[in-house]
Amino acid sequence: MKIDYNEILQQITLDLKNIKYKGDVANYIPELKSVDPNKFGISLQFLNKRGYNSGDFNIKFSIQSVSKVFALAMAFEKLGNKIWHRVGVEPSGTSFNSLLQLEYENGIPRNPFINAGALVVCDILIDLLSEPKKDFLKFVQKLAGNIHIQYNKNVARSESEVGYRNASLAYLLKDFGNIKNPVDKVLDFYFHICSIEMTCEELSKSFLVFANHGINPHNKEKILSESKTKRLNALMQSCGFYDESGEFTFTVGLPGKSGVGGGIAAIFPGEFAISVWSPRLNKKGNSILGMKALELFTTISGKSVF
Ligand code: GLU
Repeated sequence: MKIDYNEILQQITLDLKNIKYKGDVANYIPELKSVDPNKFGISLQFLNKRGYNSGDFNIKFSIQSVSKVFALAMAFEKLGNKIWHRVGVEPSGTSFNSLLQLEYENGIPRNPFINAGALVVCDILIDLLSEPKKDFLKFVQKLAGNIHIQYNKNVARSESEVGYRNASLAYLLKDFGNIKNPVDKVLDFYFHICSIEMTCEELSKSFLVFANHGINPHNKEKILSESKTKRLNALMQSCGFYDESGEFTFTVGLPGKSGVGGGIAAIFPGEFAISVWSPRLNKKGNSILGMKALELFTTISGKSVF
């Protein structure tokens, strides 16, 4: 039977409107406080160029930690397996900005998607790129097939003004010798990559490369080898949802990554990428409605990797 994706997305949007839910927008970054908590958008993009959207799919939001996937893709392709000497591949089992675990484990972050891991990836990229902020943005624009993707300088500045915990992580990493560049430079780059803004539609389009074995579907360029794409997707599956990656695997069953801006991007290898945005977060930092929407989507469509 042919699946009516349009119908599914409209139905999910409608059903979720009726859910009375708690949860709040991320308020530890002042600039993110002003986001309308009731927004909800979803976009499903297929490799065969078909696309389906619903709700506020066309409004830009701060993708925050979803960017860590782009940063890892860039660093992994350039540095290869040497990257795993400096960052692990295990779920953290702690909050995304935990200092304790980093201290116990001698400055080797559990995975590239917790903040400490992403800071190490940023440090690696600073060494590998001639103009890190410019080169990274260009890379993301290429993946999105869209030169209008930008950093939000206000969000980056706002986070840097209150980024004490990330600064603590960076200094601890530096003390362990796992950050080579000046801490300020690494933090500035990290806050910028987190400040990228996209719509759900743009985010789905930029994730298609991970559903396409590392080939950018917009220009056919090989961004990441097939084997590295497999590993990156595996990391999204096991570590992409803070300390709730097991729950997401259990209820949704797609590799993906969430951010405290309320966005989630996920992929189904060989077929599609799907993004959801709803700013209200649960205690673990994941979008409440975003997770629910994806659970409904894979349940109704049967499109899960399991
Ligand atoms: N910029 C945010 C932070 O470092 C990203 C957090 C997230 O989305 O997980 O706190």
